[in-house]
Amino acid sequence: MAGRKSSGPWYRDGLAFTCTQCGNCCTGAPGYVWVDEEEIERLAVHRGEQVGDFTRKFVRRVGDDLSLIEKPGGDCVFWDKQTGCTVYPARPRQCQTWPFWPENVETLDDWNQVRVNCPGSGQGRVYSVVEIQSALKKVMK
Ligand code: SF4
Repeated sequence: MAGRKSSGPWYRDGLAFTCTQCGNCCTGAPGYVWVDEEEIERLAVHRGEQVGDFTRKFVRRVGDDLSLIEKPGGDCVFWDKQTGCTVYPARPRQCQTWPFWPENVETLDDWNQVRVNCPGSGQGRVYSVVEIQSALKKVMK
């Protein structure tokens, strides 16, 4: 008798991730932390600043989109070597949903590539397919 055909994505049994606070995803090579108006407002409120002031100090335009600025060398402007993310409760969706981004979980190879630089990926708490897909939706919003 033929076995039941399995369905769902390759990570249908879930994927493990527990952040080790290494900061790799917030530091290093230059990149972008995309933000929209809602996220900018949340960050500004968290820091006790006016949205306009916050935007002038910490946001840059990249084409039609907006990103947080970086420190020289590429670290996120809100990353602190001693304390980690200084805006953690208000961090952007992109940061909340790491490592469950579409390009990171498309294939097992993509996921294994993430694991090379992110020691928290592949260990610790197992996220279900539903949780992973909800993170994917959130980051693509
Ligand atoms: S906002 Fe916080 S979590 Fe996001 S990249 Fe910057 S330091 Fe990292």
